[in-house]
Amino acid sequence: MSKKTDIKTCRFVGCPHGKKIDISKDEYVMPTKGQYYHPDCWSKKRSGTWKDSQTRADLQYIKNEWALRIDKNVNYSQLMRVLNDFVGRGVSSEYLVFVLDYVIKHKKKLNYPYGFKYYVDDKEIKTTYDRSKYVKIDQSKFAVEKKEFEPPQKTDPSPLIANKPKGFGSILRHKHKE
Ligand SMILES: [Zn+2]
Repeated sequence: MSKKTDIKTCRFVGCPHGKKIDISKDEYVMPTKGQYYHPDCWSKKRSGTWKDSQTRADLQYIKNEWALRIDKNVNYSQLMRVLNDFVGRGVSSEYLVFVLDYVIKHKKKLNYPYGFKYYVDDKEIKTTYDRSKYVKIDQSKFAVEKKEFEPPQKTDPSPLIANKPKGFGSILRHKHKE
């Protein structure tokens, strides 16, 4: 029987095995001390093939922007290691793009890929990101509400009339007035 301490958590975000590894009987790999992976999870994480197309496009965008605006001699393998590490930990690539855009827009100092970690963990940038997401959601909600209230109310000039139950009688009476 496996003890409770034999159950480890697979560190791979997209783990298809419920993230549980029983090290007393399951196969696993431990690339870094204390970090457990199912063998297939580890190979997927390493090869990067598990990333969806949006994530890949976002990371490509970051690579391009980095070379264009931060350092044209950027060490790509170092940069990809940093980005893959974030994505592997469940940080959304959309947020990483936001951080890079923020750094460029505010002309923050960023000389080498490892320095990017500092900004990804930056509280102020996180708050700005959350707020920008909130505004997006809020606006779309507003758009829906506006649509619901769209029917023209010209025939009901007073809110009192509008609130009355609309039986045939009230509609007819209304028509008569016009
Ligand atoms: Zn796994």
